[in-house]
Amino acid sequence: MDELRFDAGRICLDLLATAHPFERLDSVGSLCAWIHGCGLVPPGTPLTRVDTAWPGAFRELRRNVGQLVHGWLAQGGSVPYGGAGAHDGALARVNEAARTAPPTPRAVRGEDGSLVRALDRPPECAALLAAVARDTVELLTDPVARAGLRQCAGDNCPLVYVDMSRGRRRRWCSSEVCGNRERVARHRRRAALARS
Ligand SMILES: [Zn+2]
Repeated sequence: MDELRFDAGRICLDLLATAHPFERLDSVGSLCAWIHGCGLVPPGTPLTRVDTAWPGAFRELRRNVGQLVHGWLAQGGSVPYGGAGAHDGALARVNEAARTAPPTPRAVRGEDGSLVRALDRPPECAALLAAVARDTVELLTDPVARAGLRQCAGDNCPLVYVDMSRGRRRRWCSSEVCGNRERVARHRRRAALARS
């Protein structure tokens, strides 16, 4: 599956997914595709301020968000997670990124006269990073949302999602990817057993 993934349930977790199974944020073009795909900006927003420094800045934020999210999961979601001081460097960097104002939304008239969301100007890198950092802050401080954080049950799949399903029984980052892989493996095991 080569497409970018946007099924984690939160923008900050969709950002983590860009490191798997290979680096997606390795060019301006793929970063722009991610920014549009995850809904960080309204559809059609021109990203005219983007330059070659942006992918590295997003990867840096991703590293910090990843430390916090995986730290939380590694502790089984206990509070305070990671013990006193663990990941405090990442926490400080995410909080710092969140200080900047995110892009300002506006309601403007679309072609048919109905209101559509737009930004007041092409967004700066720091404003977009701030939007992702704020999503991280909200996720990790929301007791209900963070209790739904799960790592995919797939073999060696590092993807993390928020389980909002009824009864919280979602096991996979995606039933089409890891869920399907598990169904195929189970079928193979049954077939091998039947032959022996
Ligand atoms: Zn998975």
